[in-house]
Amino acid sequence: MGVKDIEHRQVIVIGAGPAGSAAAQKLAEEGLDVLVLERRSIVGNPAQCGECIPHWGEVIGTFNHLEDHQWLKEYFDFPERLILHRLDNMRVFLPSGKSYHFELDAFAGHRLQFDGYLADKAVRAGAEIRMSTSLKRLQQQRKANRELLVTSEGRFTCDYLIDASGSLAHVGRLRHGQDRDVRPEDQVPTIYAQVKGDVPETFDVFLGSVAPSGYAWIIPKGPGFANVGLGVRAGKLEGDLKGHLERFCDDLNLEIISFGGGWIPMGGPVKRMVDGTTLAVGDAAGLVMPSNGGGISQAIISGCFAAEAIVANLRHQTPLSTYEDRVRASMGPALKNSLRSKNMGYAFMRGDLMTELILRILGPIGGIKRAMECERSLWIV
Ligand SMILES: Cc1cc2nc3c(=O)[nH]c(=O)nc-3n(C[C@H](O)[C@H](O)[C@H](O)COP(=O)(O)OP(=O)(O)OC[C@H]3O[C@@H](n4cnc5c(N)ncnc54)[C@H](O)[C@@H]3O)c2cc1C
Repeated sequence: MGVKDIEHRQVIVIGAGPAGSAAAQKLAEEGLDVLVLERRSIVGNPAQCGECIPHWGEVIGTFNHLEDHQWLKEYFDFPERLILHRLDNMRVFLPSGKSYHFELDAFAGHRLQFDGYLADKAVRAGAEIRMSTSLKRLQQQRKANRELLVTSEGRFTCDYLIDASGSLAHVGRLRHGQDRDVRPEDQVPTIYAQVKGDVPETFDVFLGSVAPSGYAWIIPKGPGFANVGLGVRAGKLEGDLKGHLERFCDDLNLEIISFGGGWIPMGGPVKRMVDGTTLAVGDAAGLVMPSNGGGISQAIISGCFAAEAIVANLRHQTPLSTYEDRVRASMGPALKNSLRSKNMGYAFMRGDLMTELILRILGPIGGIKRAMECERSLWIV
């Protein structure tokens, strides 16, 4: 293809994370022509995750109207080879060392393997994924009445565009700059390490000065190894995040093998998920749980909903806004509860003493569990 050529595709998806791969698979299964553009050279690498992946039970326990969704139910039926360690329990530690625990329905995996598995399924369904291809610019061509997607590997046009580019929401940012309606807010810096040592069986969370306005985690991935990390509200930590994590691991006698990190959008859903024929999904739509940073299940669900909305729009002229309505109906309540919990944490959990006091009040009435699970509001017993 010459430099000046423009490739047209029915649907283009920016990003081959869980949201992009789920959307691409569903669209391809419905017979649509779909191209995924991914800037990385290997899907999922480097991983940016604590690597706690929810099972279907956790998903339908948290979000609404999903029980009868057969496609999603099957999608969440992950093969045994991806499941490194079952996470049946979570313990939340207060600054004093006291802990509260509750059940979980999740597992630890390698994100690299997990994302690769999801992308493979999309390709097997008929989607095309083009690696090392980064969306750089959106160019409006008013005379031709089209928008060009300018990438590192050529120019494209499409009938529908899915922004699955993660927390920094590249399409929204390129098209609307600083417009807050389309940008996920409260980007929390996180760092994690793959470690060796004596690790717990449970998903452990630590609150207090170890991670001001955030939390530290240990997610066991198997005997003797774990993903250990921390996320802290921007500007709340004195010193650097990496040094802080090194000290945390040192205290626990854990040997660090490698580091990773990324940004988690903790500000709740963006105000506008549909922009013309562009749909934002996953982190790009701000669908991460603000109180616990989990976003894999929302990425997959929203990817599937976006694909279904495109198919319905194409075949029955159903407005694309139904995508956003469905996302809000299914995930809105849990995300709202989660945002409230996070804001309460920001407002009141200042210093170990206050954090301990508040958690001692909330713990016995199930408030910590609710803050983590987000199923119900924090205050209702
Ligand atoms: C440190 C950390 C720990 C986390 N721990 C957990 C956890 O344990 N459990 C959980 O459920 N969630 C966790 N999350 C959140 C979870 O990782 C995300 O919610 C999830 O990955 C969102 O999926 P996505 O497909 O929307 O975006 P992503 O997985 O971020 O995928 C976006 C893709 O788009 C690509 N891309 C970006 N820009 C461009 C561009 N311009 N052109 C082409 N491609 C582009 C990226 O390379 C990437 O592959 C964590 C996040 C972080 C940062």
